[in-house]
This record gives sequence, C-alpha cells and structure tokens, in this order.
Amino acid sequence: MYIIKINGIVQGVGFRPFIYKLALEEDINGFVLNSTSGVQIEAEGKITKLKTFISRIKSELPPAAEINKFEVKLVPDKKYNAFEIKISSQTTGSTLISPDLAVCNDCINEFNNPSDPRFQYPFINCTNCGPRFSIIENTPYDRPVTSMKDFKMCSFCDNEYKNPLNRRFHAQPIACEKCGPKLIFQDKKLFQIDGSPIKHTIEALQRGKIVGIKGIGGFHIACDAKNFKAVSELRKRKHRPHKPFAIMVLPDRIKDLVHINNDELKILKSSVSPIIILPQKENNFLAENVAPDNPNLGIFFPYAPHHYQILSKELPFLIMTSGNKSNEPIAKNENELIAICDCFLTHNRPILNRSDDSIIMPIDKKNIIIRRSRGYVPTPLTIPIKTIPTLGCGAELKLTFSLSEKNKLFLSPYIGNSGSKETIDFYLEIFEKYKKWFKIDPELIACDLQPDFATTRFAEETGLPIQRIQHHHAHIAAVMAEHQLDEQVIGISYDGTGYGTDQKIWGGEIFIADYNKFERVSHLEYMPLPGGDAAIKHPIRIAYSYLLKSSCDPNFLTGISDFEKNIIQKQLQNNFNVFQTSSMGRLFDSVAAMLELFPIISFEAQSAMALEYLCKDASVFDYDPYPYELDVGVIKIGSLLKSIYNDVRNKVNHSIIALRFHRTIIDFTLNSVIKASKSTGIKKVVLSGGVMQNRVILSGLYEILQRNNFTVFFPSKIPPNDSSISFGQVMIANRLLR
Ligand code: ZN
Ligand code: ZN
Ligand code: FE
Repeated sequence: MYIIKINGIVQGVGFRPFIYKLALEEDINGFVLNSTSGVQIEAEGKITKLKTFISRIKSELPPAAEINKFEVKLVPDKKYNAFEIKISSQTTGSTLISPDLAVCNDCINEFNNPSDPRFQYPFINCTNCGPRFSIIENTPYDRPVTSMKDFKMCSFCDNEYKNPLNRRFHAQPIACEKCGPKLIFQDKKLFQIDGSPIKHTIEALQRGKIVGIKGIGGFHIACDAKNFKAVSELRKRKHRPHKPFAIMVLPDRIKDLVHINNDELKILKSSVSPIIILPQKENNFLAENVAPDNPNLGIFFPYAPHHYQILSKELPFLIMTSGNKSNEPIAKNENELIAICDCFLTHNRPILNRSDDSIIMPIDKKNIIIRRSRGYVPTPLTIPIKTIPTLGCGAELKLTFSLSEKNKLFLSPYIGNSGSKETIDFYLEIFEKYKKWFKIDPELIACDLQPDFATTRFAEETGLPIQRIQHHHAHIAAVMAEHQLDEQVIGISYDGTGYGTDQKIWGGEIFIADYNKFERVSHLEYMPLPGGDAAIKHPIRIAYSYLLKSSCDPNFLTGISDFEKNIIQKQLQNNFNVFQTSSMGRLFDSVAAMLELFPIISFEAQSAMALEYLCKDASVFDYDPYPYELDVGVIKIGSLLKSIYNDVRNKVNHSIIALRFHRTIIDFTLNSVIKASKSTGIKKVVLSGGVMQNRVILSGLYEILQRNNFTVFFPSKIPPNDSSISFGQVMIANRLLR
C-alpha cells in the first residue's frame, strides 16, 4: 500500500473527486483526505495499477491544480474494501489557497442551455471554476469558512455536492437559483429596484449611465465604451483625465478591437482571465476618449457568469475599470462608490478578500505582468534561499507586501498607492489574513530606506528586528529571485523615485549586486528637481531646470509662466527646496515636456509611455544615439539634452527625436554594462524598475545585451514596477541577517 502526500494547490480545485474517479478506474481501495497540510491518500491495489494511478495523478491533474510536493511511501496493506473520500481533519501545517478562477467552458455551456437547471444562473460554478480566494475566511477550505456559509444548499445542490462522480463534488460555492446568491439592482441611493437586475443594468448602460458592478474580487465601474459622453463623464467623476480604461469584450468581438495572436488569446481565456495590453486596430468602434493618444488597448474577457449576461450584440464593449476612488483600494461594497456611479448591479454574496484584475503586457514574445492580483494571489512564489519568517513591507506606490518562510514567498494582492487611510487599512487587513492562513509569524521586517513612507513607519511599529533596504537594490534582488539566481549580477534599475544611501533621489542605476550588497557602478548624472513632488506633476518645470543646468536657454518652452520660471530660478540659485536626482523617469519627463506632449502628468509613467508611442513600429537600431559622456561612475546627459534642445528648435520630427532618445539610453546602458563586466567578469544582467514597462527600452536592451554575449534576465512573473519591492526586500534582509 502507498501513502501519498501531496502539497500545492490541491483544495477547491476538484482534486479529491479527481482522485476518487482515478481510484475507481484503477481498482484502488483506500481513501483521500484534505488536511491543513495538503491532500493525503492511502492507496491499495495491484502494483501495476498503483503505478498507473500515481502517474495519472501527475499527468491528468485538474486544470487549476498545482503540485509543489509529492511524497510516496510504501507501507504494509490495511485491507481496505472500498475507496472513499474522508472528511477533513485538523492537523498542523499550512496548505495553499486557490486563486479565484474564471468561469469554465462546461459551466458556460450549462449556463446557455435552456433545459439546464442552472440556465442563466449568474453564480454557476464547479470544482474547476468560480470564486476561491475572494470568499475564504479560513483554512482548510470548506463551505462553513467561506462567504457561502449563510446559503443553505437545496437538495439538488446537496446531492451534487455529495456525489464524488459529479463535477460539483465538494465545490464549496455550489449554488443554484433556488438556494444561492442573487443579483440585485439598486438606484443611486441604494434603493432596490424590482424587476430583472440584468435588464435594468443593460438599459442603464445603453442610456449612457455609469454602473457599479459587483464582481468576484471587487467592484467594477462600467459604462458603454462606444458612448463618448458617458466615458468623459466617467473620467470627470473618477478624476482620471487621461489614463486609458480597460475594455471587457465578448470573445467573438475581440478581433474588432485589437491585433492578437493565439498565445495571447490563450492567456485571455485562461482561468486567470487577466487584462492584456494589445495594439489597437484602427477604425475600431470605441469612443476616442477610452484610451486617448494610446496605440494600445487593455482588454479582457468576461470571467464571472453575469458578465456574459450584460455583454451582448448591442453592448459588446464595456469599460470595466476598477471600482475605486483615486488612491483608494478597490471597493467591495456599493456605498463606497455612491459619488461615482448612477446605479448598481450588486449581489448578496459578500466579498471577503479583494483583488484587482491582473494585467499582462506582451513585449515581443515575452509576457510581462504589470499587475499580479486576481487569478494569481495567493499562490506563492518559490525563492532560491531559505528565509526565516519575514515580512517585506514594500515601498509606497503600487504597494504590495511579501510574507515568506523557507523557500516560499507569498506576494500580497495589489493594494494601491499608500497615502490614504483606506489603503493602509486594506494592507493591514490582508497582512493579518496572510499570517493566519499561511501560519507565518514574521521574525524579521524589511522596509525601504525612505524614512517617511507609511510602510517604513509600520515596520518600525512592529518592534521586530528591521532591515532597511535600498529601493533599487530591492528591485534587482526581486528579479534575481524570480530567476532563482544567487550570485553577483550586473543589475540595471530604471524607475521614477527611490531613496539613495546619499539621501538623494535615485532612479537611473547600474549596480554590481547580489543579495548581500551592492556597488553603484554607474548612475545618471544628478540633476536639479526644483520643488520635489510638485515638479513631478508639472514636467515642464523639470525640463526648464534640466535645460538651465545643461546651459541651454529654456525660454523657448511654452506652457510655463514667468512666475514659475522666476521661482525655479530662485530655488536653483539659493539651492532652496531643490532635490538632486538621477531618476530615469524624470529624464523621460523632461524630454516629453520639451516636445510639449502634455502640460500635466496625471498618472505614473505617462511620459515614458508617450515617448515610447512616438517610436511607433520603427526599429530603434536604425537610428543613431545622441552624444553623452561616460564619466567615472556617472552617465553625463548634458550633451544629450543640448542635442534634443537643438532638434526641437530645428523642428526635427518628434518620432525621430524619440527614437534617438531611446537609442541613447540603450547605448549608454550597454556601454556601462560592458565597462562593469570588463572589471568584474560578470556576464549576467538583470533588468528591473518601472521604466522596463517601456517596450522599446526592454526589448532594445534585451536584444543588444544578448548580441553582446550577456545573459539577460527581466521580470516576467512579477511586475517590473514597485509592486515587486517587497519581494526584493525579503531576499536581501535574510541575507544581511546571516
Ligand atoms: Zn465550471
Ligand atoms: Zn441549489
Ligand atoms: Fe521603483
């Protein structure tokens, strides 16, 4: 007889009925049992059958299951005379929680079949699909510890739930029209409106209303993406003037909107069901203010059954943006969105754990995760060093935390930008839950060097031993860990803002680094940032200051008042409220401002995106870099700025300026890397930081570094941006401790 212990995502994904069926097919007796440490099987039978049984477990795994550990032990037979599924027992150890899974094809077929008992039932699900993370209160995952506990199963559902051969056997969120959750339509004042909630929703959307729609991990704010007026009203209410909106589209209409290949289609249809950013087709059907001045479009497929009811021939393209107020986390209750929405499609199944939609951006043939949340969390990542229980607190923007023990690291869902009370409350809420579910009580805290981040203060208040980690070191360490590297690398970290060890603002950094330490081998020249954060919103002020510093006359710049110029000049003269920065993000800002792309920055990375789009489909390698100087440890950009200044004044085509600008960055990066490699012999290069979301920079660097015989590692399972800071912090803190 074999005792088999399996660890991984094996609960809530149809694992036990799968084992049960296999056991019947292979004449195996014994049992299967869910425990807090995974799944345990005792299996008796003919030895050949047992061997097939084990190999079929591995090869025929249910789609959402994942095995991390598989142990088999041979022991004397106990003479079982049947195979059964045993009831959960409480043991120690922790198990994993499945992420939320998009509704599967089998369920959609039933949903569309008029003779099926769950025809058009908006909460249809099975062991292979449906909510998981968002409804769980505690482990082991079982209906009484989910938000389904108050819905008493009817006899029809109960029979399916108890039948090991049914595809809903122990599907904890099982429900039907008779016994399960229901949709509700509410007006602006949250009064319930009688009649069909779906019909009301469709009517409201067709009339150009903005509707709050409760989904799986939180609310969406929806409006008809063809309706210009509705979209501009949504922009006004959400205080979101320019940032592109994501579109939910029916699968058979996707090709009207974007260029897509089969791999990307597969990702869209997967159980994660993320948003994918793809090149827009021309002459599409969307209002022009959906993604203004943007050649790309974020699109996703319906993933909850009721999404399929709302989308139709008449309403094929919906804006479905995260239901939150600016700088607040995604809402789980309608009352948080009264100020934005005209009415609500909601339901009575509580969302216990929120997660935003995940976002993937294909760059060449690489799929970069920009936001890792619904569909991924709380699945852990495997890391190359054994850690003690550690909390990485993260930075400030695009906040996440990381909780690790041994070789496992749990990255939190995307939390938002810290700064609001709601964000910090959400952070603490998820942190407490992760500690409980995964039984990790941190003994070590890692935070950013920046003293006034909310996350730094939180770290200090825990009273635990703290390691303060430099921001860009954390960026590089996160990408190293993703690729299981534990050695010295040449790390490139290009982003907006990170606190340096010299108290200056870093962000254009080339390090020799491992988890222990880093040496800053090169960085962008320090430039004066007058007024700090205020200037970050007004890129024209950055351009003005950068040009002055480079001995160019910045008076050709329009869009800056004499009053502003005066203040900046005084600030620079007296060195008052002027910050020195080596930020790559600010360099993009200043070039974007010289090209007068937009007067005000309304979202992060706006300049880097706009300059990337100017490059269109041209190859950056067909253009010459602008001049620059590699000094000892410093990339001097005075002559770069001067050349762009001359080109702008000579009315050189903006696309050519943008291409040469990108080419320059790729060129000085390559030359700095070659220099660093010559003195150290290191051939592995790690790319990190938010600027790596710029396709021209990422694929350009990847290509040219490979051509020069470097092995290049870039973030793909974790975001390039600050959402990965917490991950890198954990790695470095553990090594420093040793
Ligand atoms: Zn299903
Ligand atoms: Zn039922
Ligand atoms: Fe950063």
